Amino acid sequence: SLRGKRAVITGSTAGIGLGIAEALCDHGCRVVISGSRPREAAEAVVATLKKDFPAAELHYIQADLSTPEGPPALIKQTIETLGGLDIVVNNAGLQHTSPLVDFPLDKWQQLMALHLTAPFLTMQSALRHWRDLSAEQKTSVYGRLINISSAHGLVASPNKTAYCAAKHGVLGLTKAAALEMAETGVTVNAVCPGWVNTDLVHKQVVRLSQDKGISIEEAETKLVSAKHPNKMFTPARHVGEYVAFLCSEAATCITGASQVIDGGWTIQ
Ligand code: NAD
Repeated sequence: SLRGKRAVITGSTAGIGLGIAEALCDHGCRVVISGSRPREAAEAVVATLKKDFPAAELHYIQADLSTPEGPPALIKQTIETLGGLDIVVNNAGLQHTSPLVDFPLDKWQQLMALHLTAPFLTMQSALRHWRDLSAEQKTSVYGRLINISSAHGLVASPNKTAYCAAKHGVLGLTKAAALEMAETGVTVNAVCPGWVNTDLVHKQVVRLSQDKGISIEEAETKLVSAKHPNKMFTPARHVGEYVAFLCSEAATCITGASQVIDGGWTIQ
């Protein structure tokens, strides 16, 4: 059980982040969910989580993670809200597809800021917090830093240069940080999902359906079957349960890993 563990998950009002929030609530964590939109926009999500997990403690903190100020502010507010911090899940992300020849620089920079710089900054803030604990508090440090990379952290697809570069970068960031923290009780891991049918993917499904003149259902099947040998989307909650396992005591010796959950995509 993760009872009482204090967790923050970025980009957790929908999609994979919400699946992670559900799993951590279910496993007994005290949870901060976060998004770039004001509290009112997240109220329905918070209400549903509270209904589904009545025993869970849940807070919402707004943070725009594409700015240098956003990530440290989120960690600071989380520590103030929960009275400390045990688990950081860097999940917020977005996609932009374009051939490299026309890829807009501002989109490249936005993807780098959100996927790479934001995890660098949240991890740095968490590590500073743990470093500055008193000697007495330090004896009980348990820390889990988990970065949501992607199958595109391991393999590539055309028209996704920024996304692939950032997601490969997340694995490097994770490995180097894991080595630095190896003797401290803090583990640092990456999770690499294949297709999960979230808003981020739905936009690509809609484009495929328009380009090929096929239905949304046909486009979903085409998209997932092209990459996943098991021909099914990975449910967001399954990614959440994987994250919960990485937070457990049984995962103490897993660090610096790139944990794949991709229906067999990257074994081909
Ligand atoms: P999603 O669009 O459903 O969720 C992304 C979240 O990030 C949203 O909550 C959004 O509000 C938040 N976000 C975007 N910009 C932000 C900003 N500037 N500040 C703070 N939050 C911001 O997408 P998803 O598919 O659930 O993606 C979650 C993560 O999983 C991303 O890092 C994505 O790259 C990764 N991923 C997704 C898939 C997939 O198939 N869906 C596969 C592998 C990896």
